[in-house]
Amino acid sequence: MSVALSTEQREVVGMVRDFVEREIIPNAHRLEHDDEYPTEIVATMKQLGFFGFAIAQEYGGSGLNYETYAMCCEEIARGWMSITGIINTHFIVSYLVENYGTDDQRQRFLPAMASGDMHGGFSLSEPNCGSDVQAIETRAVLDGADYVVNGSKMWATNGEHSTVVATLVKTDPNTKPRWKGLSCILAEKQYDGFRSTKRIEKLGYKGVETTELVFENNRQPATNLLGGVEGEGFKQMMAALEVGRVNVAARGVGVSQRAFELAIAYAQQRHAFGVPIAEHQAIQIKLADMATKITAARLITQMAARKKDAGERADVECGMAKLFATETCFECVAEAMRIHGGYGFSKEYEVERLYRDAPLLVIGEGTNEIQKLIIARGLLERYKV
Ligand SMILES: Cc1cc2nc3c(=O)[nH]c(=O)nc-3n(C[C@H](O)[C@H](O)[C@H](O)COP(=O)(O)OP(=O)(O)OC[C@H]3O[C@@H](n4cnc5c(N)ncnc54)[C@H](O)[C@@H]3O)c2cc1C
Repeated sequence: MSVALSTEQREVVGMVRDFVEREIIPNAHRLEHDDEYPTEIVATMKQLGFFGFAIAQEYGGSGLNYETYAMCCEEIARGWMSITGIINTHFIVSYLVENYGTDDQRQRFLPAMASGDMHGGFSLSEPNCGSDVQAIETRAVLDGADYVVNGSKMWATNGEHSTVVATLVKTDPNTKPRWKGLSCILAEKQYDGFRSTKRIEKLGYKGVETTELVFENNRQPATNLLGGVEGEGFKQMMAALEVGRVNVAARGVGVSQRAFELAIAYAQQRHAFGVPIAEHQAIQIKLADMATKITAARLITQMAARKKDAGERADVECGMAKLFATETCFECVAEAMRIHGGYGFSKEYEVERLYRDAPLLVIGEGTNEIQKLIIARGLLERYKV
C-alpha cells in the first residue's frame, strides 16, 4: 500500500520508521496508559533533527517538503499518534514565521526552533469559541513598545512544553469584518503574566499535554507581532492551519495503517468455527474495505501536501484530505476493534488505544463539519457560473 518514494524520501522515511519501531512502539503502551510525557523520545527526536524537519536549511532545518513531512507523520502516528501532536504545532509556527515573519523574527525563532531549543505552540481556541474563530476575545493593546495581552485560551496542545505560542488576539474590536481586527502574536513564555494552567484530562491523545493558557496583563514586545502588521492574523493562521491539516490527515493514515496491520495479523491467528477468522468472508470484506480506504487516504494526503508545497492556495485539498483520512481512520479503528472481538475491548491490546485516539482527528484542526463548509465554499468559487 505504498506510494513511489524518491531516494531522499526513502532515506528520511526509513530513518523515521526505524526510530518508531525501536523507540516509540515498545514504549507507547506504558507511556500512554500512564499519561506520561515522552521525555526520552522527544530528547532523541531533537538529536535526530525531527524538530527541524520542515524548517528551511538556511535556518538549520532539513528543509523537507510537506509531502515528505506527511510521510514522516504517517510513520510516527503508526507508532503513537501523540508524538505527531508534539511536532504539529511546532511546524505550524515555523510555517508562520518562515512565510509571514519579519527578518528579525526569522533569525530569532527559526534556528532555535530547528534545533528544538525553542518549541512552538499554536493557539486559536478559547473557552467560548472554536469553530467560530473570529469570535475570539483575547485582547492585545499596544502600549509603548509592547502589546499588553489579556484573555484565556483553551485546548492548547503542548501548552506546557511550548516556549513560543503563535496566539490569535484581537487588536481592533470595532473593525468589520471581524477578521480584520485579528492579529498573530508570537507570545513567549519568558514574559511574566503568560502561563499554562490546567491540564485537560482526555479520552485519548495522552502523553502530550493539552492545557488552558492564561494571559494576565502580559507584555509581549511589539517586535513579536507576526510580520509587524496588525490585522493579518486571521489570514496568516488559516494558511498555517493547512500545514496542520496535512499533519492530521497523515495521522489518520498512520493510525488506520496500524489498526489494519493489527487486525490482519489477529485475523490469521484467532480461530472460530475450526478455521482462522481470516477465512470467513465477513472478515475478509472488512480487511479489503480498510486497505482500500487507507490507500485512498494516503494518496489524497500526498496530493494535498504537494499542493501546499507548490505554494498554491490549498484549503480545498487540505480540507478534503483531513476529512477523508480522518473519517477513514474513525471507521478503521472500529473495524479493527471488532475483528479483535472481546480482546479489542481490553486495555492490554493496542487497538484499544487506537480506538480512543481516532475521535480527536475528526474534531481537531477544525471539525470535519467545518472542513465540508471550507471545501464547498472553495468549490463554489472555482465552479462559479
Ligand atoms: C485534544 C485537543 C487538542 C487541541 N489542540 C488545539 C490547539 O493546539 N490549538 C487550538 O487553537 N485548538 C486546539 N484544539 C481545539 C479544536 O481545534 C476545537 O475543539 C475545534 O476546532 C472545535 O471547536 P469547539 O470545540 O469549540 O467546538 P464548537 O465550535 O463549539 O462546535 C461544536 C459542534 O458544532 C459544530 N459546528 C460549529 N459550527 C458549525 C457550522 N457552522 N456548521 C456546522 N456545524 C458546526 C462543530 O462541527 C461541532 O460538531 C484542540 C482540541 C482538542 C480536543
